[in-house]
Amino acid sequence: MALERVCDACGRRTHDPRARCECGEPLWLVTDPRGFDWNDVTDAPGMWRYGALLPFDSPGGVADAAGGTPLVRTPRLDDFTGVTVYVKDEGENPTGSFKDRGSALGVAAALADGRERVGTVSHGNMAMSTASVAAGVGLDCVVLVPSDVPPERLAHIVQYDPTLLRVDGDYGRLYEQSLELGANSGTRFLNSDVPLRVEGQKTTALEVCESFAPGVPDGLVVPVSSGGHASGIWKALRELVEAGAIDRLPRLYLVQAAACAPIAAAFERGDERVTPVDGADTVAYSIANAGPPSGTRALAAARDTGGGVVAVTDDEILAAQSAFARRAGFSVETASATTLAGARRLAEAGKLDADDDVVLVATGSGFKERAASSKPVNVPVVTLDTLETVLSGEVELEHV
Ligand SMILES: *Cc1c(COP(=O)(O)O)cnc(C)c1O
Ligand SMILES: [Zn+2]
Repeated sequence: MALERVCDACGRRTHDPRARCECGEPLWLVTDPRGFDWNDVTDAPGMWRYGALLPFDSPGGVADAAGGTPLVRTPRLDDFTGVTVYVKDEGENPTGSFKDRGSALGVAAALADGRERVGTVSHGNMAMSTASVAAGVGLDCVVLVPSDVPPERLAHIVQYDPTLLRVDGDYGRLYEQSLELGANSGTRFLNSDVPLRVEGQKTTALEVCESFAPGVPDGLVVPVSSGGHASGIWKALRELVEAGAIDRLPRLYLVQAAACAPIAAAFERGDERVTPVDGADTVAYSIANAGPPSGTRALAAARDTGGGVVAVTDDEILAAQSAFARRAGFSVETASATTLAGARRLAEAGKLDADDDVVLVATGSGFKERAASSKPVNVPVVTLDTLETVLSGEVELEHV
């Protein structure tokens, strides 16, 4: 029997393997965390150590490498932000982003159901991730991309050999339509905020909380686009409270790029619901979602935990991306750099203090966008004969 799903907004329940409630809001899986404690964590690889809180075991293959990412204390970022900073390095997942957690659980469910194929609507990290995890178990994967997708994006995806289709027509509508289509065609679509992806992505927060147990961090800062990851994190925190494994909720702060910030705008206005905006381009392309399908749920997560939603400009994002690398040695995606810029804003506004333990969820590696960027880099040239004078400091060298 299919797993039961519940709508957090209206309470309706269903055994239909649907992603949306009749009220239009996203569903998530019904789980029972009661009785869980940290001793139930096993030594299974990566995210699978939380098997007690997950509906499926690992399907094997590269899914075993999903999750289990390090949490790193980064003292040199404290001055930049004004808080005590930790980085949750999701760039260490097999395809360089947290999406592997959700893909792994989604593929596990598809195999358990006897599906022949999984699919996704994405031209970014989610496409790569779904195709990779499917390849690891020999499952077919169909990836639907917009017809005007830049070729450098496709190069990252095709290495895993999915069935790639460019789709003409409204991309936003395709996201919802694929969910229905999938149910009839035997393909399980693992889009950003479907219940199974959300369930896998809750392991980010389980790992962070286990690192701080029996305490919790004061704040978690997460970039938000569809709201799928934020939903998973909120679900994990609620389950841990219900199980009695943590005694208070960390505050969940969500960050958007100012050019496309429907959730931040709704938070600002004090609205209950997120409404679509006319989004503009931003350097943080992975989080440019003008009509986030789980936006209202993400907004509720920020409010319920006593956190908030902030928007940061492209200039702040680029400065934060550079600080991540220069002050902490992390190459992060622009989308992930929003967390550092957001934490700085929150500290300036007095929402976070210097002694608050704040975890920045660095959702994706910066290596992919570095590879795609063609910005020229000027590097001084020395000869073998002059190298010694240069290194001994007799000649002033500029930083590149
Ligand atoms: C997908 C993605 C996000 C946003 O996650 P949502 O679940 O869509 O809110 C943030 N950062 C990176 C690097 C991503 O790939
Ligand atoms: Zn509902």
